[in-house]
Amino acid sequence: MSAAVLDVRGLSKSFGGVRAVDGVDFAVAAGELLALIGPNGAGKSTCFNMLNGQLRPDAGGVSLNGRSIVGLPPRRIWRLGVGRTFQITATFVSMTVRENVQMALLSHHRRIGSMFARASGLYRAEADALLERVAMRDQADRVCGVLAYGDLKRVELAVALANDPRLLLMDEPTAGMAPRERVQLMELAARLARERGIAVLFTEHDMDVVFAHADRVIVLDRGRLIASGTPDQVRADPQVQAVYLGS
Ligand code: ADP
Ligand code: MG
Repeated sequence: MSAAVLDVRGLSKSFGGVRAVDGVDFAVAAGELLALIGPNGAGKSTCFNMLNGQLRPDAGGVSLNGRSIVGLPPRRIWRLGVGRTFQITATFVSMTVRENVQMALLSHHRRIGSMFARASGLYRAEADALLERVAMRDQADRVCGVLAYGDLKRVELAVALANDPRLLLMDEPTAGMAPRERVQLMELAARLARERGIAVLFTEHDMDVVFAHADRVIVLDRGRLIASGTPDQVRADPQVQAVYLGS
């Protein structure tokens, strides 16, 4: 396997007396899709929040391509190539699909101040190319507020890709989607990971999605990593079965 894009060692975070994340180790390689699963409250979102700098770990190391990112503000971490899609979408609803991607490109190229650029069509061709990748080119002129949920998620993916990420964090990317849309989104994520060598870490409730699309799976339970391996290995793990049957 190629060198890790993301390397996490002993990651820990408590809230009051609750050990939300407790000494977690894992790594994600370029082009790999790693699923982070576990029951509600297991610590998945807290992990994500530490990886993108929204939360500071109490202890542990996080490195991106060999460089420590602990303590860096979210904006710096994003600049270093950590993209994220959210459980609730974060597009600008009154702007068009294309404008949302153009804004992300402007920001990536540090030209966020040039608001006139939006009207002047800067990065229009680049935006359309990204929209083509996520099969949203035909809806480029629609405002995001009117889009179907699954389409909005694909726009979010294009927005994340505008930052040319090395690591993509997807928190429950297929929540609220119809089964067919779920398959399409995950196939798209897998294709992008492979073509661009992006490391993808995602959380997911739907086990069918996890087992069909993840290269590897890690399982959290009450903040602790209880299993890791291929989908088949994890599915057969008695401890994992106990957690899922018991929850
Ligand atoms: P998951 O995403 O796996 O459902 P979370 O990471 O959201 O789990 O939560 C892990 C634990 O940490 C839960 O017990 C939750 O109540 C607690 N927790 C998460 N965020 C906070 C917070 N900001 N303040 C206090 N407790 C929190
Ligand atoms: Mg969560």
